[in-house]
Amino acid sequence: MTGEKPHPETRAAHGAVGPDPRDGAVVPPLQPASTFVQGADEGRSYARDQSPGVEPAERLLAELEGGGEALLFASGMAAATAMIGALRPGDHIVAQRVMYWGLRRWLTDFCAEWGIGLDFVDAGEPGTIAAAVQPGRTRVVWIETPANPTWDVVDIAAAAEAAHEAGAWLAVDNTVPTPVHTRPLAHGADVVFHSATKMLNGHSDIVAGALVTNQPDHALWHRVRATRAHGGGILGPFEAWLLLRGMRTLYLRAERAAATAQAIAEHFDRHPKVNAVLYPGLQSHPGHATAARQMERGFGGMLSLRLADGRAAAERVPHACRTILPATSLGGVESLIEHRAGIEGADSPVPGDLVRLSVGIEHPDDLIADLEQALDRGASGHKGLCSGRGDNRH
Ligand SMILES: *Cc1c(COP(=O)(O)O)cnc(C)c1O
Repeated sequence: MTGEKPHPETRAAHGAVGPDPRDGAVVPPLQPASTFVQGADEGRSYARDQSPGVEPAERLLAELEGGGEALLFASGMAAATAMIGALRPGDHIVAQRVMYWGLRRWLTDFCAEWGIGLDFVDAGEPGTIAAAVQPGRTRVVWIETPANPTWDVVDIAAAAEAAHEAGAWLAVDNTVPTPVHTRPLAHGADVVFHSATKMLNGHSDIVAGALVTNQPDHALWHRVRATRAHGGGILGPFEAWLLLRGMRTLYLRAERAAATAQAIAEHFDRHPKVNAVLYPGLQSHPGHATAARQMERGFGGMLSLRLADGRAAAERVPHACRTILPATSLGGVESLIEHRAGIEGADSPVPGDLVRLSVGIEHPDDLIADLEQALDRGASGHKGLCSGRGDNRH
């Protein structure tokens, strides 16, 4: 086996950079410096441009995604707004209708205010992207797969072809599958987006974002890099250090979460209290064949249940859970559940009877038993359960 490239989980476990040659430490140092002596070896000057505190995490993420360069940001939204902010008035974007709601809302307002054309498409339907792109004007096609919170699947290679026909970049939100399950750049995408807050870090203890490209010399990427340096949405070194630490166990966590999500999906498929289980790992899911082609090692740790007892039950069930926590966000080691339409507000396209589940690394039997008892209690409107957390939206 000598001479063969190590597998990605091996690289991740070693944090890509390996031991520090100066002192043999097996983890990289936490380097908080804001400024660097001029004329020193690596030519750094100021930490808003470049920081050795964040570069090890960037290097590992770039490697796992198969990209040439990764940039970390202060949040997922800071990364997404840097990418879209690289466009100019008159440009055009095609985006997926079913996507992370915070980004959909910001895109709508930003594009209207800055004279950027925006068309939403049902990207899971073949041909919709090709029909929406405007050659020479569309700069970015933005997709998410599997997409929040219905887990619609988009064919990345087909989307890339349609984007490239028009001279646009394909950007893929890879927050949910992570490079463990999908490597969009290998399927033709030009840039990968992450809310690193979620599965990449995996411990619900930082807010961070990332962009990765395989074309670091492209003019659009130069503008993204400049936006981070001048806009200042950089990740702090401590958060970057925690992120690198989290990514060292990414493969273990993601594979375990996906195996458990599959078990939960199969258990509640055709359950009397559940009208539909939305999970691309089920053969009945309309995107299953495409997902099986472009995903590996499982289908991710996110799924949704549409409850037979409707919206009222969907509002109550998260609060009837005892092990699974009623909270927004996803990708942590602890499982979370939420009533998604309640989080997104009145203009949400999400069905009211849907609960979204982020599967952690607990024992699968404990999670299934918890959901069973919560469905029992939640459906009957059991006293003592609080419901509807007002406008506490994230
Ligand atoms: C959370 C999330 C975002 C936004 O990222 P933040 O880190 O919260 O700014 C974008 N896309 C997806 C799929 C997310 O889950």
